[in-house]
Amino acid sequence: MNERVDVLIVGGGPGGLACAADLAAGGVRVLLAERKAKIGAKVCAGGITWNGLIRLVPEALIEAAFPEQHIVTGRQRAVVAEANPIVATVNRERLGQWMAQRAAAAGADLRTALVTARSAPAHERAIRTLMNWNIEVDEAMFLGGLPKGEFLREFEPDFFFDDQTGHVDNAAPHVPSGHVAAGVTNGP
Ligand SMILES: Cc1cc2nc3c(=O)[nH]c(=O)nc-3n(C[C@H](O)[C@H](O)[C@H](O)COP(=O)(O)OP(=O)(O)OC[C@H]3O[C@@H](n4cnc5c(N)ncnc54)[C@H](O)[C@@H]3O)c2cc1C
Repeated sequence: MNERVDVLIVGGGPGGLACAADLAAGGVRVLLAERKAKIGAKVCAGGITWNGLIRLVPEALIEAAFPEQHIVTGRQRAVVAEANPIVATVNRERLGQWMAQRAAAAGADLRTALVTARSAPAHERAIRTLMNWNIEVDEAMFLGGLPKGEFLREFEPDFFFDDQTGHVDNAAPHVPSGHVAAGVTNGP
């Protein structure tokens, strides 16, 4: 990794990854920091217009193509049909991984992070899980049992899940939080 960079991009979504690839291809030293352990996954339909973005991604990424569009409202029902597809869908995780490879190939440094309340020796299970899932991270932050709430407030995740209600209660004032009702503490 470069010790000095010209541009720091925070966030490895399509926007950040496209910027990283273009800047790096232009000779700019770029560091992109993504807080998720794996780049790409996001709640998104993955729809891209046939006449626009589709030309920018490889055909192999296209999962489905739709030559018809159905518009249904309380007042109307209309069908727009074209000879060529109007819209196609891509898997966001695969798109993100492809864009990340493209940015890295252009010379951008990409870094991802894992944040957990665990500390030694309980860190081993988290590391083994990542290895089993074939996920690589550049940084792992083990909070050693510190309350997660204040840390999460600064880290600003989109959503926080935990199997312990104490952690959920601590995080909920700072970030949308959900309780996982199964797990080590709650049983199957
Ligand atoms: C339900 C849903 C359906 C959608 N369907 C479509 C669709 O069909 N077609 C379409 O074109 N668009 C769709 N969108 C919109 C599309 O997902 C967004 O426009 C697109 O993801 C925006 O890209 P982005 O790079 O700006 O941001 P994002 O994709 O949100 O990426 C931001 C990244 O920054 C990271 N990040 C945030 N804060 C930090 C931090 N402090 N440190 C490090 N990393 C950080 C996040 O983890 C994330 O990876 C949909 C969105 C939703 C919610």
